[in-house]
Amino acid sequence: GYRKGGYHAVRPGDHFAAGRYVAQRKLGWGNFSTVWLAFDVQSQKFVALKIQKSAPEFAQAALHEIEFLSEITTRDPSNCKCIIQLIDHFKHTGPNGQHICLVFEFLGDSLLKLVQYNRYKGIGFRRVREICRSILIGLDYLHRELGIIHSDLKLENILLVSTIDPSKDPIRSGLQPNLERPEGNPNGEVGLNPIERKLKMRARRVLAKLAEKRKSAAEYARAERSLDGIDMTCKIVDFGNACWADNQFTDFIQTRQYRAPEVILGSGYSFPVDMWSFACIAFELATGEMLFTPKEGQGYSEDEDHLALMMEVLGKIPKKIATMGTKSKEYFDRHGDLKRIRRLKFSSVERVLVDKYKIPESDAREFADFLCPLFDFAPEKRPTAAQCLQHKWLQCNDDKTCGTLNTTDAKNVGVAHSTGNTVGSDSKSI
Ligand code: ATP
Ligand code: MG
Ligand code: MG
Repeated sequence: GYRKGGYHAVRPGDHFAAGRYVAQRKLGWGNFSTVWLAFDVQSQKFVALKIQKSAPEFAQAALHEIEFLSEITTRDPSNCKCIIQLIDHFKHTGPNGQHICLVFEFLGDSLLKLVQYNRYKGIGFRRVREICRSILIGLDYLHRELGIIHSDLKLENILLVSTIDPSKDPIRSGLQPNLERPEGNPNGEVGLNPIERKLKMRARRVLAKLAEKRKSAAEYARAERSLDGIDMTCKIVDFGNACWADNQFTDFIQTRQYRAPEVILGSGYSFPVDMWSFACIAFELATGEMLFTPKEGQGYSEDEDHLALMMEVLGKIPKKIATMGTKSKEYFDRHGDLKRIRRLKFSSVERVLVDKYKIPESDAREFADFLCPLFDFAPEKRPTAAQCLQHKWLQCNDDKTCGTLNTTDAKNVGVAHSTGNTVGSDSKSI
């Protein structure tokens, strides 16, 4: 981490870009960077400052991200497309080298946190709908107007728009790491005898425990607030893996659980990979659990398990699709059956929603009706973001059902599941 080529160590109060940004506290970190809340002296606003590791491969990745973010930001001056906006970028030299820094508008918690706060139980259909709308607006803009594939959509990479003033955030205030203690007399204990010191240490432990409790109480209070907020808009972030649809650099994309079948099969990909991940996200928000969590097993790979799990809820992959990828031979025989996983327990998205997650039948039917076309094994048949936005399921705005589906509306969205293999058996496979 914090060595030559690695992260840049930051302390609250540190200045960046000739004093324009003043670091406040750490917001998060990833494999490439640490992200800090900073105050922008020029605009008098809080911003998120992403400080990249300094080694050349990380600098390269940051330049890649800037390429996409600049395009995204300049083409959306009104900032209404549900995609993170890049405010500024610059270089910062520190003891570990030269770090590329990206300055973003400050956003709130990720959808992963939202689901965690809700103890992995699903966040209710009203909120799912609102979040889905935001993500789809973002995807429509990326795909149709810019020609960009995000290629790493997942809960962590979607952040809620923060309505909280970061300077008054109850969780963090008073819980800073002790970086600002006066030097030389770190604990203010000089002159205490051993007994006094022991008592003082015990008091400090008790206080620390209390602070922990207060922290989690505040965290729950905040979760409640973020859940009850009327404004559930959110924004897509993390363009570190984005690519232009007409200029791809790699066959290997997406985080495992959100990966589309054509990526596993090596059949080439385009915008529909994002639509697949989007459907996985919608399912996860509604149920609190991921739809596909493949594992390597005795005699079969994680990839093969993943394909088997998909077929169990979505029906068999049509032979033509299953056998046309560069990697098809690793998983399928010439009849289009998996080589090492023979007995599949077929179910359906709707059955899983009802049986496993106890979602009322009519809600489950309408939600499955929205999801299933997105889970088409033929990428070109998946609805686009623009088509999804027209779907009946998104038109109503409460936790209850939204009436019978209007089939003429639905037809444009490709509702019929094209594999023709969705087996409605009672067996629960996941
Ligand atoms: P990864 O390994 O996921 O690619 P990364 O180093 O590229 O990580 P990001 O994913 O961009 O970093 O950001 C790391 C974390 O910082 C995020 O998960 C989020 O918690 C926080 N973060 C990023 N951008 C913002 C923002 N604009 N506002 C608030 N928090 C943010
Ligand atoms: Mg990330
Ligand atoms: Mg990244």
